[in-house]
Amino acid sequence: MRARNPHILNAPGDFYVEDGCCTSCEMPFTEAPGHFKYDEGGHCYVCKQPSTPEDENNMISAVSVSEVSCIRYGGNDPETLKKLVALNEREQCDALVGNLDVPGPAKKVWWALWRR
Ligand code: SF4
Repeated sequence: MRARNPHILNAPGDFYVEDGCCTSCEMPFTEAPGHFKYDEGGHCYVCKQPSTPEDENNMISAVSVSEVSCIRYGGNDPETLKKLVALNEREQCDALVGNLDVPGPAKKVWWALWRR
């Protein structure tokens, strides 16, 4: 799993923006008003973590619309993970990405052929 590099100004919590990937898409400001700001260089970061179920859903929407996939979920809440996976945002979930390193079916097939 590649190392993540969160923006230094992210508010502590489960959602974060990765540093160095911003195209100033404006999308999270629409999806989750009040939870994102731009730094002096025009790179967005999470300025406020969600504190209500509505906030949480808005942040999940922000993850799903962010340009260049730069908003991530680093938490372990099963409901949030389920919602993100349902939106095809599995790869934005730190808790799930590690599973991608598990050998997949293609590798198992190759190994099975080798052993014959
Ligand atoms: S979601 Fe990504 S591209 Fe869009 S403003 Fe935030 S950091 Fe920039």
